[in-house]
Amino acid sequence: MTINLISDTVTLPTKEMLSAMMQAEAGDDVFGADPTVNKLQEKIAGMFGMEAALFFPSGTMANQTAIMLHTKPGDEIICDKWAHVYNYESGGPAANSGVACNLIDGNRGMFTADQVRAHIKNKEHIYEAFTSLVTVENTTNKGGGACWDIEELKKIRAVCSTNDLAYHLDGARLFNALVAKNQLPKHYGELFDTISVCLSKGLGCPIGSLLLGSKAYIKEAVRIRKRLGGGMRQVGYIAAAGIYALEHHISRLTEDHKKAKAIAEVLQSLPYIKKVEPVETNILIFNVQDAIDEQEFVKKLKDRGILIVGMGQGKLRIVTHLDFTDHMLEKLITELKTIY
Ligand SMILES: *Cc1c(COP(=O)(O)O)cnc(C)c1O
Repeated sequence: MTINLISDTVTLPTKEMLSAMMQAEAGDDVFGADPTVNKLQEKIAGMFGMEAALFFPSGTMANQTAIMLHTKPGDEIICDKWAHVYNYESGGPAANSGVACNLIDGNRGMFTADQVRAHIKNKEHIYEAFTSLVTVENTTNKGGGACWDIEELKKIRAVCSTNDLAYHLDGARLFNALVAKNQLPKHYGELFDTISVCLSKGLGCPIGSLLLGSKAYIKEAVRIRKRLGGGMRQVGYIAAAGIYALEHHISRLTEDHKKAKAIAEVLQSLPYIKKVEPVETNILIFNVQDAIDEQEFVKKLKDRGILIVGMGQGKLRIVTHLDFTDHMLEKLITELKTIY
C-alpha cells in the first residue's frame, strides 16, 4: 500500500464516477455538440449564478485564458508573490499575454485592498505599465490551503470597480474554501469577472477545469482556448466525471480537512518538528528541525510507503484527498511517531 500525499491531484476515479463516465452521451465539443459538456457548463454556471462557463483541460489553461481576456500586451497584473499564475504556470502571463506581474508581498498568499490600491500604477502616466487585472487565489496553494476573508475580497472588488480593473479568482481549490467557511458558490459568482475552478483536485476527477464569466467573456474564451490548442472533441466522457463530482464530492471535502488537522495535531507534538503552519483545509505545510535534512525525511517516509514533497527552504507539504483513507491516516500517524 502506497500512501500518496504529494497532491490532491493523484486520485483515481471512484467506481461510481467511472460508471457515470462510461454512460455519458458525447459529441464533438468543438462544434458545441457534446451534450454532457454543455450540461456541465450550464450546471456550474448556475451554481455560481454566473452567465456561462467553459470546460478546459487544465486550470493553467483556464487561468491563462482569463489573463488573455482581461489584458493586452504591455499591461500589468496584480497578484501575490506566491500566486500560482506567477510561480507555476511556466511564465504564461509573459509568454501568452505579454504582461508583467506586479507582485504583492502578502500573507500566506493573501493580501489587502489597501495593498492592491498601493500597487495600481497611475494610468495617466504614459511611461508606466497599464494596470488592468487583479487576480486572487482561494484557497492559496503555496500559502498552505489558506482561505480568504470574503469581506477583504469584497473590498478588493470595490477597488477594482473604482479603478476599472478586471477581477479574476483562481479557484483551483475554491470548493475546499466553500466547505471550510460554509459559503456558497454564489457569494463568489457575484464578486468576480471570471473564476477558474479545478475538478481534478479535491473533487477527484481525472482531468478538467472550468472558467466562469459573462456570456461575452466566455464567447471570447472559446476562441482563446482554441488558439491555445485546447479545443476538445468527445469530452463528454470526462465532463460526466465533473457532473458526478459536483453532485457527490463537495461536502465530503470536510473529511479531507479533518484528516489534515489530525495530522497537524500529531506533528505538533513531535520533537523533530520545528513548525506546523495553521491548517484550514486539505494542505498542511510544516518544517522539520534544522538538524534534520528535509530530503532525508522525505526519503525515510518513502521507504515506509509514504510519499510527500519538499517545497524548499526546509518546508514540507502534505495534501489530503479522496483516496486517503482512515486506515492510511492511522498508518501515517504510527510511522510519524516512530520514524525518529
Ligand atoms: C493546481 C492549480 C492550478 C491549475 O493547475 P493545473 O494542473 O493546470 O490544472 C491553478 N491554480 C492553483 C492555485 C492550483 O493549485
